[in-house]
Amino acid sequence: MIASVAVRGERILENVEGGAMGPCNHEWSICNVRHGYFVEEGCFECGARLSFFSAEPVPPIDKYREGRHYWAYLGSFQTVKFDLKCRACAGIVDLNDVNGLMLSECTDRDCQVGALVHQQGPDSLVYVALCPNTSHPTGKCVSSEGIEALNQYFRAKLAPVGRKVTIVPCKLCNSIDKCRGTSIVDVGLTDIQ
Ligand SMILES: [Zn+2]
Ligand SMILES: [Zn+2]
Ligand SMILES: [Zn+2]
Ligand SMILES: [Zn+2]
Repeated sequence: MIASVAVRGERILENVEGGAMGPCNHEWSICNVRHGYFVEEGCFECGARLSFFSAEPVPPIDKYREGRHYWAYLGSFQTVKFDLKCRACAGIVDLNDVNGLMLSECTDRDCQVGALVHQQGPDSLVYVALCPNTSHPTGKCVSSEGIEALNQYFRAKLAPVGRKVTIVPCKLCNSIDKCRGTSIVDVGLTDIQ
């Protein structure tokens, strides 16, 4: 299935499919759960984006200048942050660089995420892991270790109900606005049947 993905996606999908992190056959469980909002701001002058996690009961709406940027609130949605801990080896994967997980509804086949959504069957879900800087000026996104553990966790979770899931880092996305879908707020995924 994965082997037929367009060539430019291969390197990342190798990460997603993952080699072993170690000899342990990790059994991930959720820990350090924090509920809050994914808040997105944009700079009107250069178009850059940034996002942050807010645990405030109401997401902050601000306009402020910072160096050459003029940041303004673009929107927010409910999200949940968590880390993953292995029951077998007690290893912890820090997912602090994940501000949200969003079901991709991308239909743009020129987008790597859109191509993946198109290629996967209707029983498969593609989630985008959102990092704190969705315009990626430094190229940094969610760690490959984090993406690998998220895939292992959600696959194990959804296999019994016959659903497949792939989690990809948000830098694979052409336009985070077009790729946007529903955000995961329930880490138990009880709403996915
Ligand atoms: Zn382990
Ligand atoms: Zn700017
Ligand atoms: Zn990213
Ligand atoms: Zn897309």
